[in-house]
Amino acid sequence: MYDYLIVGSGLFGAVCAYELNKAGKKCLVLEKRPHIGGNVYTENTEGINVHKYGAHIFHTSDKEIWNYINNFAEFNNYVNSPVARYKNECYNLPFNMNTFTKLWNDVFTPDEAKKRIEEERADSLVENPENLEQQAIKLVGKTIYEKLIKGYTEKQWGRPCAELPPFIIKRLPVRFTFDNNYFNDRYQGIPIGGYTAIIEKMLKGVEVRLNCDFFDDRAAFEKCAEKIIFTGAIDRFYDYRFGALQYRSVRFETEVLDTDNYQGNAVVNYTGSDVPYTRIIEHKHFEFGTQPKTVVSREYSAEWKMGDEPYYPVNDEKNNALYEKYKKLSENDANVIFGGRLGQYKYYDMHVVIKNALQTVAEELNTVR
Ligand code: FAD
Ligand code: UDP
Repeated sequence: MYDYLIVGSGLFGAVCAYELNKAGKKCLVLEKRPHIGGNVYTENTEGINVHKYGAHIFHTSDKEIWNYINNFAEFNNYVNSPVARYKNECYNLPFNMNTFTKLWNDVFTPDEAKKRIEEERADSLVENPENLEQQAIKLVGKTIYEKLIKGYTEKQWGRPCAELPPFIIKRLPVRFTFDNNYFNDRYQGIPIGGYTAIIEKMLKGVEVRLNCDFFDDRAAFEKCAEKIIFTGAIDRFYDYRFGALQYRSVRFETEVLDTDNYQGNAVVNYTGSDVPYTRIIEHKHFEFGTQPKTVVSREYSAEWKMGDEPYYPVNDEKNNALYEKYKKLSENDANVIFGGRLGQYKYYDMHVVIKNALQTVAEELNTVR
């Protein structure tokens, strides 16, 4: 008999397993994929750590979480500065003075940029935006919305910007300085040696079964532990009783190229609707790689269908309301804890997932954090 059955070996499951194991609890981790790590999994190809399920840049302002993750890896000094490609034009992201001066050839100073954005949004300004389109125009005006936001967002989410929640675009900084850092966080970097090594360290000494889906033998698994920590999709756990939650899925087309530098940057976003993919990742640039070859991944966003890998929860009103029904139902299951991006149906970054996992374990062990 195990103390905890942990379904999923992503960051949430791995942090719980590490902390519970350290506290002397007997844990079993189930992972349906052939490898550990969930979406942060990296795989070495041609000496390059390939982010197999999408580019992952660690960033946080939480010193405790930064110190925690640094126990498992040394981080490099990578600063994410994606480039946006719109037709035959290239712009720096996030939206900053480099973007504004390139876009408008009569704008040179922060005041001129602010004035220009004000003019651009004048006729369509909504004080309290109710959707992403209104929010984006309020933030950066119409030209940037049309060139750098609309096409990318509609490809990524498969919905018109006017039907998406405003919070999605508020993730991006808008700066009136010449600063291409995509994040405002105090700490940022990529773990040297890849994310998989972090998860390996967390799961050292813990029993892990790969290629093992909880639902293949649910009745037996439910009996094998006192408690379950479930990091898969909560609607699946309840057999889609109230209907399926919506997710966005991503398809990655990855290839090795016989050149040492394909695009000169780790992330290039294709923001026009004329290109079918959202972005191209050139993995070596996350670690300043000097290998003779390169590995690139094109990301195609798609609506999730039954059987696909769910990636992004669609946190609009309709889905959030449906999730609340599952959450309420889960409150009757005192022995099951739902955690992580899928278990809690939230668009969480890695540092938040780690924090939540540490909190979950502290509650389990009755230790105050
Ligand atoms: P997951 O990593 O999804 O792990 C869940 C695990 O459970 C998976 O391995 C799955 O196979 C397994 N599982 C599910 N169901 C079952 C079952 N029935 N039986 C057995 N196993 C099961 N965050 C950042 O901070 N920075 C970034 O740059 C960033 N980029 C991202 C890019 C993309 C494309 C995506 C999708 C996410 C990104 N994130 C980023 C978010 C980050 O991936 C998550 O916060 C984090 O990985 C979530 O960890 P998790 O353990 O909750 O989920
Ligand atoms: N976004 C955009 N153009 C870009 C990059 C991002 O319009 O070139 C918007 C898009 O709506 C996206 C949101 O900003 O969903 C958040 O972007 P982020 O890079 O944080 O998304 P992630 O891939 O990390 O979820």
